[in-house]
Amino acid sequence: MALIVQKYGGTSVGSVDRIEKVAEKLIHSKQQAHDLVVVVSAMSGETNRLMLLANEIDANPVPRELDVLLSTGEQVTIALLCMALEKRGFPARSYTGTQVQILTDSAHNKARIKDIGDANIRQDLDQGRIIVVAGFQGVDDKGNITTLGRGGSDTTAVALAAALQADECQIYTDVDGVYTTDPKMVPEARRLERVTFEEMLELASLGSKVLQIRAVEFAGKYNVPLRVLSSFEDGPGTLITYEEENMEEALISGIAFNRDEAKLTIVGVPDQPGIASMILEPISDANVEVDMIVQNIAADSTTDFTFTVHRNDYTRAMDILKKISADLQAREVTGDNKIVKISLVGVGMRSHAGIASKMFRTLAAEAINIRMISTSEIKISVVVDEKYLELGVRALHEAFELEKA
Ligand code: ADP
Ligand code: ASP
Ligand code: MG
Repeated sequence: MALIVQKYGGTSVGSVDRIEKVAEKLIHSKQQAHDLVVVVSAMSGETNRLMLLANEIDANPVPRELDVLLSTGEQVTIALLCMALEKRGFPARSYTGTQVQILTDSAHNKARIKDIGDANIRQDLDQGRIIVVAGFQGVDDKGNITTLGRGGSDTTAVALAAALQADECQIYTDVDGVYTTDPKMVPEARRLERVTFEEMLELASLGSKVLQIRAVEFAGKYNVPLRVLSSFEDGPGTLITYEEENMEEALISGIAFNRDEAKLTIVGVPDQPGIASMILEPISDANVEVDMIVQNIAADSTTDFTFTVHRNDYTRAMDILKKISADLQAREVTGDNKIVKISLVGVGMRSHAGIASKMFRTLAAEAINIRMISTSEIKISVVVDEKYLELGVRALHEAFELEKA
């Protein structure tokens, strides 16, 4: 019998009515003789609501207690969904992360899954039950509740699929697959039949929130067949696969964007060995993650150093730079937290020249100034002013004809 792991995101379980609909869908799958393990998110908006409650008490609540709080969202959904299944005469059983034994490290709010104990689940499956697991949460080796970072239910589903050697992991969400870009921003965006792990990894890490990046990493590492589908309508969705020898390679698979960016510049520091580490060490000591880094070529004997961070870390990073600027003999420290990053992603880029220049020409034609650029083998990212985000994404989508198959 095929074992399928299905995951339903926040919108898909956003009301009692929707939860009942998910129950109906599960029963349909079950009747097609599937063993089912179902992972659910908190009802839509719930995780944000809990976060706001915590912030009313403390802007930086203690991480352990934040996890105790945030994990309650998913616990509500597992219970309601099991009630809906049982009411229909289908035996079901809910599991929290602790009850499954989703063992993680102790990095509260961004824990990583280390191991999954599946004995309990297997026993229930053998007895014909539908298993409903709370996403986004685990337990560390001391019994503390942990959470896996925003969007973490995707990772719970993929990790369970890997542990149980499921035949497929299906991520049901409010769009019917992975698109060439966020279909909520660009209505012309096209659903992709398939996308490679490598591309999906880039798309996810560059801001496409349709899958959490760790879920894609896991699926690639353990070769979990992964599919993104709509929970509201039937369809094939998007399959995430390995690159195949003779796979027709699209030049560009998609456009990702990230609104959570901010940049900081330290102007006129001496151009000498050690400067980069003197600037970035205190930043990383403060647990601030740095994304892009650019150092200008020195004109006189000084240079400018620019880097980007998550917008939430902007003030903290700025305070640090201001503190160290005197030691560094810097002329000034400047910053901008109204910037965004737009990225083109495609494995086909490897073998084609001219994509960067076309990207820059397209943005120039819209009078969009590029503030920073970074490239890798299969992506090109630019930083632009926040106000140009939509215009830039739409213009690029059109210029590269992504609406056409
Ligand atoms: P869920 O609550 O089901 O986990 P998410 O909101 O986390 O759903 O992810 C689905 C959303 O991801 C979509 O509604 C869409 O707005 C967004 N998204 C961003 N980029 C893409 C893309 N390339 N393809 C599809 N959806 C995307
Ligand atoms: N409820 C969590 C969040 O909103 C986890 C998830 O939905 O995947 O981020
Ligand atoms: Mg999500």
